[in-house]
Amino acid sequence: MEYLKPMEPTRIHSNGDSLFQDITFAPDIPVYAEGKCHTLNVVKQVEQTLANDLSADKEYLPITGMPEFNKLTEVVFLLLAAYIIVRKSPAIKESRVVTVQCVSGCLSLRVGAEFLAKHYHQHVVYLPEPTYGNHPNLISAAGLTLKTYRYYDPKTLVLDFQGLLEDLGSALTGAIVLFHACGHNPTGVDPTCQQWEQIRQLVRQRGLLPFFDCAYQGLVSGNLDDDAQSIRMFGCDGGECFVAQSYSKNMGLYGERIGSLSIVCKTADVARRVESQLKLIIRPLYSNPPIHGAAIVTAILKDRDLYQKWTNELKAMRDRLVQVRRQLYDSLCNKGTPGDWSHIIKQVGMYSFTGLNKDQVDFLTREYHIYMSSDGRINIGGLSSKTVPYFADAIHDAVIS
Ligand code: PMP
Repeated sequence: MEYLKPMEPTRIHSNGDSLFQDITFAPDIPVYAEGKCHTLNVVKQVEQTLANDLSADKEYLPITGMPEFNKLTEVVFLLLAAYIIVRKSPAIKESRVVTVQCVSGCLSLRVGAEFLAKHYHQHVVYLPEPTYGNHPNLISAAGLTLKTYRYYDPKTLVLDFQGLLEDLGSALTGAIVLFHACGHNPTGVDPTCQQWEQIRQLVRQRGLLPFFDCAYQGLVSGNLDDDAQSIRMFGCDGGECFVAQSYSKNMGLYGERIGSLSIVCKTADVARRVESQLKLIIRPLYSNPPIHGAAIVTAILKDRDLYQKWTNELKAMRDRLVQVRRQLYDSLCNKGTPGDWSHIIKQVGMYSFTGLNKDQVDFLTREYHIYMSSDGRINIGGLSSKTVPYFADAIHDAVIS
């Protein structure tokens, strides 16, 4: 996979023209067409209420964001089902979790990486191979060193669990390991619950530090609780763990840039010290986060009816993804397209690794004007019942050509 390379420092000198005469073009940042963005009805409803609230001001938020948002967001992945009934998570009950509102998932990852670069003795981070294209940029920009662990087997199109265990089993002591909490981007392949438990035991035995990226909670099973099971296993076993949470996808709040970084610590005292250091990291990065996205999420999480409306709409979005997968799979089977396409319905979440190779992807672009990543990844959300037949025709043609 090609990652953006850091730029060479620009030489600045004055020769009578521009001070930035020698600045070079940055490499293009890949942008994937994600289809038209859908705004949830519950979000529209909350926005109307917010617009009518004449008492609201535009004062800066604290450096760590909206306190009410921070309290509610950690509940979403650490103890959701129990939260209305009883606050059960030991980490939350014992005040061992620090949560700071950040500028969406990306900056939550970046703030976590900056914290680790400054305060953690081990600077090596293991990323799954492959992973979300911005992970290496966000993490190396903080000065951490990247390594990879085996995750996906392109021959069998499933999780390379043995390879994953071997690589984490021989990882450097204390190394940081990045996990996708659910709906792995780009493969759509997640470990099972039993596999997560094996991974947890290995991580704890080897003293590795887990860092979860949770960008698709609810979009895999349709249930927020089930999709955060991996995080709860680590977050509730008494050990440390980092979680970057994003509401871009599961609340459709892409442009609002709303997310959070949570750090589960061993004691409440460490948590307080960690929080004070996080402020020093955030202050020179963006000073304090924006209000609007946090206000929307907070309104939804704290109100039982709005929360119910959100989870219903989330489930509908997830069911649509499953339907589109099934439609694509059925179309390929009905056409008799050579090959086994069952991975399309076994994979989960927003993405599918179709198994198409670079030549076949080039063929789709050339002959059908279908533009997708050269590794064969597609965003299932970008397809619809209207476009699947055209896409299936194109795949069929590419495979038999
Ligand atoms: N993590 C993963 C795995 C992602 O796929 C994405 C977005 N595609 C992000 C984090 C960042 O999302 P955002 O900053 O929009 O919340």
